Formats: sequence, structure tokens, C-alpha cells
Amino acid sequence: MTKRLYYDQPDLLEFDSTVEEVHAPSAEGRCSFALRESAFYPTSGGQVHDTGWLSLESGERVRVSEVGEAEDGRVVHYLEAPSEAPVAAARVHGSIDPGRRRDHMQQHTGQHVLSAAFLELYQFPTVSFHMGDDYCSIDLATPTLTAEQVIGAERRTNEIIFENRGVTIRYVSRAEAETLGLRKLPPAERDELRLIEIANFDLSACGGTHVFATGQIGSVLLRKTEKTRQGMRVEFVCGGRAVRMARRDYGALVESAGLYSAQIWDLPAQIRKSFEEVRAARKEKEEALDELAGAMVEAALIGSPVDRVTGSSETLAAARSAPRIITRVFADRDVVFAKLFAQKAARAGGGVVALVASTVSPPGVVFAQAPGGPADMGALLKQALAAVGGRGGGTHDFAQGGVPAGCDVEKLLQDTGGKIG
Ligand SMILES: [Zn+2]
Repeated sequence: MTKRLYYDQPDLLEFDSTVEEVHAPSAEGRCSFALRESAFYPTSGGQVHDTGWLSLESGERVRVSEVGEAEDGRVVHYLEAPSEAPVAAARVHGSIDPGRRRDHMQQHTGQHVLSAAFLELYQFPTVSFHMGDDYCSIDLATPTLTAEQVIGAERRTNEIIFENRGVTIRYVSRAEAETLGLRKLPPAERDELRLIEIANFDLSACGGTHVFATGQIGSVLLRKTEKTRQGMRVEFVCGGRAVRMARRDYGALVESAGLYSAQIWDLPAQIRKSFEEVRAARKEKEEALDELAGAMVEAALIGSPVDRVTGSSETLAAARSAPRIITRVFADRDVVFAKLFAQKAARAGGGVVALVASTVSPPGVVFAQAPGGPADMGALLKQALAAVGGRGGGTHDFAQGGVPAGCDVEKLLQDTGGKIG
């Protein structure tokens, strides 16, 4: 087993060691090895691994990009493309990325305080902890979580942070641990347990890296909560992350407020007002388009051939009983308007068949007639679309479909009109 230097010296960032075992390169050509002792933290217990550098005897300084844990308890270090792989028994010098380690210590210790606060205030135990690149989260065993409880736990956690309580490490036997009232007793696999104690607030078994006093956590900021299968998930950020996150949020708010020439705290009211304006404008537009389509149908009917038929009463009667076909191609209005126009024309009375198209992307055609009219709109559309490679369908009285861009819809409507009466 690798001697884990971070157990007793979580602030140790530089160390000397000896290569104990070099592993065969992975399929991706990654080189990995174990050291006799290491200050690198391997991904485990919800906390993600350290990164850093390793100086080899050749003088080469190589990036340690990932650190894992083997089943036998060894810490496995993965190197980013060294020109020469380290050999067994070689002396090396390890350097931990200090910013990343400090961040992990802040998030992890913050999690201990937060979990203890949820337990103290609301009796919600923590069932899991996750540390991501942007934020961390804990899953609480509770079916519900109110906004007041979130704020309450955040306030209590920050209180403990501001009181700068000591965080200490000690080792006890499993039997002794069972008498100490730990927040959570780990599964029975080790005889000796490493306990992390936050003075007069929390005692738990943990193998992670923690700060020395709660003040070093900086602060905690609780963010999103969501329901999960096992309870409620609470996202949080501590220390430097809380500042970065708040800075990012503030930037987004300032930019948004600039769009409204408003103060950031006036944004909800401004956005609500905008929504109402958009809704009213949309309604006005729909009404105006409806009126426009109605007026265009009237104009089309005045100009349709039946009004110009003259002659004997028989010819006039024949002309009046024949369907009145209105064809129209809209180059500046979409297919939604074309449909509105076609439906209004079909309802206008006098046996109108409306064959309408829009060439605005995506181009489409609409065929409509009064219920029970003389032709079969669905069948006509099917024929027309088959000829141009379009898609669509409909019923006896109404049919609609899309046509390929650049399709000669003028000709398509004329040909369809020719098939009626
Ligand atoms: Zn811990």
C-alpha cells in the first residue's frame, strides 16, 4: 500500500519519493506507476483527484493528469506523455497543483459542515456527495426541501465557517468509533478509522483532504435543488468557487439589466412586463392577419370569373353551379397565412375551392373547400405532391403539404385547378 502523505499533512504540496512499480502503458499509451509514498490524492469518497507534476531523475518535469486508486490500496499516478517513462526504484519529486488542492479542501470541508447543518436543523442525513468541476452536490434523504430550509442550512453553515472552528484528524479503532456517535459510520472494511472532527459540531470518518479551521472554507453558497430517486439534491459552492460563481451570475445580471436600462433588482418586474407586451403584440398581430386574410378573400371573390359571365340564363346558371376556383401564391407570407386565407375562402360560400401556396421557407400548399364540396382535396394534394416530391395529406375538404424549395407552385396550382370541373 502506498503511504498516503496527505492523511496527516493535507497541506504538503512538495515531496520526494521512490518509484515502486511501473505499469504497462494503457491502450491510449498512458503511462502509470505507483510510488512508495505520495501526497497526491486519488479520486475516492466523492472527492476528485489532485493533479500536479513529477520531476524525474533526467530533470524532465511531467504533468500528472490523473490519480486513481488500485484495489490493493496503491495510489496510481497517470503521466501525460513523458519522453522517457520512470523506472522502478528511481527517485522522483512530486509537486501538487496548489490551487486545485486548496479548492478541493474548501469544497470537501464545506460539505462536512453543510451535511452536519442539515442534520442538526432538519434531521436530513446526507446519502452521497459529488464534486464536479463547477459545483458540488449532496443528496439528502428527504422527500421534500423548502426554500426556507435551504436558506437555514446555508446560514448555519456560514455561521460555523465564520466561527473558525478547528478541524482535526485522529485515528480510532472501529470499536471505539462505534461509541463516539459519528454522523455516518462507514461500511465495516477497516479496523482503524480516520476521523475528521469539526470542534463541537461534527465528527465523521473520512479519508479526504480538509482545511485546518473552518474559516479557510471561506463561505458556502447553496444553489439549485432538485428531486432525485433517493431524495433531494442540493448544489453548493464554497470559498473561491462561491466568489467565481457569484461573479459570473452578477455579470449575466448586469448584462441583462443593461438590455432594459434597469437596475439588476428590477429585472424580474421588467421581464414580466416584457412578456405581457409580447403577448399583447402577438394577439394584435394575429387579429390583424385575420382581418387581412378576410379582406384578401373578399377582393379575390370580386375578381373571380363568375361575376363576369354574361349570356343566356342557362349559361349563367351553369357558370354559377361550377366550382369557383381561387388560386393564390404568397411570396411574402408564410404557410400559416396561406392556410388562414384558404380556410376563409372555403367558408365564404358559393362553392369556392381555394388552392393556395406560400413560397416563404418552408414552402407549402393548402387546398380547401366548403364541407362536402365538389372535389377531393386530399386526393388532389396527393397527386400534386407526388409530381414534385412533397409531403403532406388531408381530408376531402382540407389538405396541406410541404413542397421542395424552388418548386414551381404557380404551375402546381394551375394544374390542380385544371383537374377540377
Ligand atoms: Zn471529508
